[in-house]
Amino acid sequence: MSFRLFDAPLREPSQFVGFAGNRIDRQSENRADDAVEKALADGTARLMLMHAGRLYLKLDDEAFDPWFKADESQAFEVSLGQGVLLGFSEEGPVLAMPAGVEPEKLPETVKAIDYRSVYMQGLVDEAAAGALAQGAALLAWHASHAFCSKCGNRSEMRAGGYRRHCPSCGTDHFPRTDPVAIMLTATREKCLLGRGRHFAPGMYSALAGFIEPGETIEAAVRRETLEEAGIRLGRVVYHASQPWPFPYSLMIGCFGEPLNEDIQADLNELEDCRWFFREEVRTMLDRTHAGGLITPPKGAIAHHLIRAWVDSE
Ligand SMILES: [Zn+2]
Repeated sequence: MSFRLFDAPLREPSQFVGFAGNRIDRQSENRADDAVEKALADGTARLMLMHAGRLYLKLDDEAFDPWFKADESQAFEVSLGQGVLLGFSEEGPVLAMPAGVEPEKLPETVKAIDYRSVYMQGLVDEAAAGALAQGAALLAWHASHAFCSKCGNRSEMRAGGYRRHCPSCGTDHFPRTDPVAIMLTATREKCLLGRGRHFAPGMYSALAGFIEPGETIEAAVRRETLEEAGIRLGRVVYHASQPWPFPYSLMIGCFGEPLNEDIQADLNELEDCRWFFREEVRTMLDRTHAGGLITPPKGAIAHHLIRAWVDSE
């Protein structure tokens, strides 16, 4: 008997985006209320320390090491009670902890580097970047959900950090993941790229927007493309997704087929939006564009959408 559903080898585009290399065994069925305590008592436990959107990294022979032992972490004013258990690696339990020491007060051998730079500059391996996405999202959710949204009283962390419980009204609250649609509108000849007002100089990217309650992914892709660029879409196809810990999103990458050509850009959202032919986009990807225009860097899902289209001839 064959268990194969498809004939072609399975190749998930999501495996190639930044933050996608998480290899932690989450063991979600084993998240007891004392899971963090137990994990910290295990001598093999490894901790990621985070502070205000930055990851602490040990500088070790020119390389960055994001992992701290539990006893090592004491020097960094770690709030053990606010830590979360990410799961288990082959080496042992993996946790993420909020730390209190301000970046300028760290010892010479430890640097606090913002998550975006850690990922853009590839300062840690893919497995660690994946763990960072998981830990950063969870810690950010706890930091902004200390109080019960039903009755307003203080809630408590449970289940290794995967739930908050309100002792006053009994409500349980669960970590959020906010879906964002990111879409490349394209024909065989050209694709639609826009420039946000906060973008790096010369950068153009795929359009993106939050998926709203009651919307399918496809409906959100069509709505955002119409609102931002005045382009109506026919067929919409899912391509890949990316964990995006700013603070706890999931980027959902799609392709869309345009039904009209005339762009009406929403200039509140975008500084510019236009069609680019394939050869020009190839030079933007390769950083050889005559006018210095570029696409987002390799780890970004936008890069993968654009690359997949350019290579799809
Ligand atoms: Zn409550």
